[in-house]
Amino acid sequence: MTRNGYRAHVLAIPYPAQGHINPLLQFSKRLASSKGLKVTLANTIFIANSLNLPKSAGSVQLETISDGYDDGGFPLAESIAAYLSRLQDVGYQSVAEIITRHKATPNPIECIIYDPFLPWALDVAKQYGLVAAAFFSQSCTVNYTYYLEHHHGIIWSPASVPNNLPLGLHILEPQDMPSFFSVPGSYPAYSELVLNQFSHIEKADFIFANTFYKLEEEVVDSMSQVCPMLTIGPTIPSAYLDNSIEDDKGYGFSLFEIDSFCTDWLNTKPPGSVVYVAFGSMASLSDKQMKELALGLKATNFHFLWVVRASEEEKLPDKLKEETAEKGLLVNWSPQLEVLSHKAIGCFFTHGGWNSTIEALSSGVPMVVMPQWTDQPTNSKLIESLWKVGVRVKVDETSGLVGREEVEQCVREVMGEMGIAMKRNAKKWRELAIEAVSEGGTSDKNIDEFVSKLTSV
Ligand code: UDP
Repeated sequence: MTRNGYRAHVLAIPYPAQGHINPLLQFSKRLASSKGLKVTLANTIFIANSLNLPKSAGSVQLETISDGYDDGGFPLAESIAAYLSRLQDVGYQSVAEIITRHKATPNPIECIIYDPFLPWALDVAKQYGLVAAAFFSQSCTVNYTYYLEHHHGIIWSPASVPNNLPLGLHILEPQDMPSFFSVPGSYPAYSELVLNQFSHIEKADFIFANTFYKLEEEVVDSMSQVCPMLTIGPTIPSAYLDNSIEDDKGYGFSLFEIDSFCTDWLNTKPPGSVVYVAFGSMASLSDKQMKELALGLKATNFHFLWVVRASEEEKLPDKLKEETAEKGLLVNWSPQLEVLSHKAIGCFFTHGGWNSTIEALSSGVPMVVMPQWTDQPTNSKLIESLWKVGVRVKVDETSGLVGREEVEQCVREVMGEMGIAMKRNAKKWRELAIEAVSEGGTSDKNIDEFVSKLTSV
């Protein structure tokens, strides 16, 4: 131990969105609680102020950086591109100030762990002579498609996949590609963002992937040949996995107000009887799609707990709440991990966001996946075909919607006979996830390798 009892001081910089803060915060907690590091995590000033954040989240110290929109965050920006550009300019200076401020303290910052959605953070680290580690918060399969596009210009077309894809990616069909490839031209700023993750990645000293080895074995092996990486996941609160961190029951950091009565409601329901429906923090369904989903859920006659964010509520069909009051509970935001690990849950109707996916796997819950965009189609393929823990809904080609009958049928499949094998598989993945993060597991060893190299610099 050096420097006030810490082995080294790390600054973690997540991309300012719920699905990116959660995993990096959780990884930070593990480094701080179990590996002897001092970890400081920087949120944007807007997020910190609007949540009235304290100075620490468990064992992790909190700092702030500016994204250039301190009074309102992303919604104030005139476009995605404008937000990203200002975040880069102002964020760079902010991070540099934090490093400078800590320089004369007993614990100067020695390493930056950054989300590669912010590739400029790597430049700040190198400008100040610090160790830099990229933390990829999406699946390795998805990361590898972006890597290949960035480095080799592999031409992914909506209608076909390139020949001779490396092992692991060979299972992907056109509809399984990240949406930036299958719907070319959609969200150009985000498309550039995901590819730029690899813009000068060779300068990073470590690359972390929020997955675990056995989950994506083939693709981790093939990608590691060209881009060595350490699998360190799943990064979910330890109470749901190895229980090695004291009092680590939740992310402890929510950009939305949690409706905590969900669990009281679930307590009144029989085991395996409830469909949990949630689409993460960003997905926005059309009014028509909301209606089909609502009518499909209603037709199953199963109990359901449906997260509809406040901004989406007006899309719900009139009187749905009243008509389904006996069977359904609608909330604006749930304590998702508590919900998924509740014995009343029989299946998770999800958009297939990467955090939601690994949370469901780590809780042993089978899924119905209705992917919307970005990495979700690829995750859906892995859920259905590789891990065999769920089904992916089919979109009606004429209407572009997932119809109510399809919703009903998929839920019935997973809640019924077919779901038994999926549940068994999901429980196997849960065991393997626990093994990976437990002492001596693949993720744990990789974290130890990083810490020992960092502290011997
Ligand atoms: N989440 C939650 N309550 C909800 C819905 C989502 O706590 O009602 C959390 C969920 O546990 C996950 C994150 O929000 O950690 C969503 O991340 P994901 O990658 O699944 O989706 P994104 O929001 O990035 O689309």
